[in-house]
Amino acid sequence: NQGWIDELKQVIGENKVETKDSYVKRMSQDFYWYSPILKKQLSDFYADCIVKPSSVEEVIEVLAFSAQNRIPLVPRGGGTGNYGQIIPMEKGIILDTSALNKIIEIKNGIGRFGAGIKLGKLEADLANDGYSLRFFPSTYLKSTLGGFIAGGTGGIGSIEYGTLWDEGNVVRLTILTLEEKPRLFTIEGEELKKYIHHYGLSGVIIEAEIALAPYREWEDHLVTFSNINDALSFSESIAKSESIRKRLVSVSESPLATAFKPFEAFVSEHDSIVLLQVEKGDCDQVEELAHSFNGSFLPTFSEHVKKNKVRTTDFSWNHVTLWWMKHHPEATYLQGRFDTKNYLKQVELLKEKYPNEVLIHFEWISVGGSIVPSSQPIISYTTEERLNEIITYFKEIGVKVSNPHTYLIEEGGKDDWVELISLAKKENDPYQLLNPGKMKIGIG
Ligand code: FAD
Repeated sequence: NQGWIDELKQVIGENKVETKDSYVKRMSQDFYWYSPILKKQLSDFYADCIVKPSSVEEVIEVLAFSAQNRIPLVPRGGGTGNYGQIIPMEKGIILDTSALNKIIEIKNGIGRFGAGIKLGKLEADLANDGYSLRFFPSTYLKSTLGGFIAGGTGGIGSIEYGTLWDEGNVVRLTILTLEEKPRLFTIEGEELKKYIHHYGLSGVIIEAEIALAPYREWEDHLVTFSNINDALSFSESIAKSESIRKRLVSVSESPLATAFKPFEAFVSEHDSIVLLQVEKGDCDQVEELAHSFNGSFLPTFSEHVKKNKVRTTDFSWNHVTLWWMKHHPEATYLQGRFDTKNYLKQVELLKEKYPNEVLIHFEWISVGGSIVPSSQPIISYTTEERLNEIITYFKEIGVKVSNPHTYLIEEGGKDDWVELISLAKKENDPYQLLNPGKMKIGIG
């Protein structure tokens, strides 16, 4: 490969192309190892080089080079995806987008940003202008705006604003195609569906315009319960409360919270917990509601987290899995949406059937205007067959599962727009060089 890598260095500049083995290996991997199945399938794939352009013009040069020489290319943000989305299955180039990190414009509640901007930095900068992100993944410190749009769903704030697919959240995207002469265009409205959660298969996002939220001060709270049912019922009540503004309602069944080391003074192994981020001033209402569901509201917790510079958000969403796996490397997880009316029954059935294999973790979010329990339950992994049995049972009892144990976009369960993505791929990536191997339609 040295031949084409030398040529690429001449095109874009030697200092923009990295081939050092250890660096290339690190940049070729994400959090695919959360899944014992993906861990077996994906651990040996690495790119030939990492290219880090610092302007749109340089990205165009790299994409043109890739098309002309038929070199596969995978766009990369922060590399925090869970399904091996950035793993280069046919080697080639990893396009590191992290230098495309400009705040381009903020106007009338809408911000236009370079795709490689890190969400944590963006959130901090927006506060100076009186704004905030509407929602962001718990990986916000590392993950990029482009990577979130291309690989994520929702996160902290989704209880108010929904997910990436909800109208008005993503306003406009600027896309580059992978052709000999890459085309640059901007899309909005229905066209956005071709590029949200698209694993970089149908084009490279260069800029994104997103709607922003007004800046608010949020406080962190912890409520503990002696049983999971009370914790869930409380969480529903607070999630649906119209008088308490919140951006996080996260439930972890006992003993998951024992893995949250910074909170160890507050929880015992018998506690199921609800972690919250609510607007400053709403604390009394939370305490009252907690008591009505037999919960213990811990008044010193809020100060404790401030003093220790941690936030409840770092123990929510898939960070729950990360903390648990630190001490239980044999564990894995699922993603699913429980039934809003029937979720307590579904949990009871799961606990009956898998008393030692399934631990409940809920995140309440808004979907199409309704507040629903999305979840990332922790699974004690033994074999692939057993995991598939568990997935089948989840589905049988009406939990809508998005399978995180596959790298194929069609099988991940967020597949409503796969045909649109495939259509855009045909137009924008005629040689099927973008992230090859991740889409069945694109194979062969
Ligand atoms: P990457 O991992 O770099 O890329 C993700 C996908 O997008 C890849 O297919 C890549 O090719 C593509 N891509 C990246 N940049 C571009 C671009 N500019 N143009 C086109 N394609 C591109 N997800 C959530 O939705 N919510 C959560 O709360 C959440 N919590 C998580 C917690 C943990 C501990 C972990 C490990 C993962 C979590 N995730 C979550 C998944 C992941 O962190 C998010 O999806 C994240 O936003 C991905 O951003 P990234 O910049 O790291 O993307």
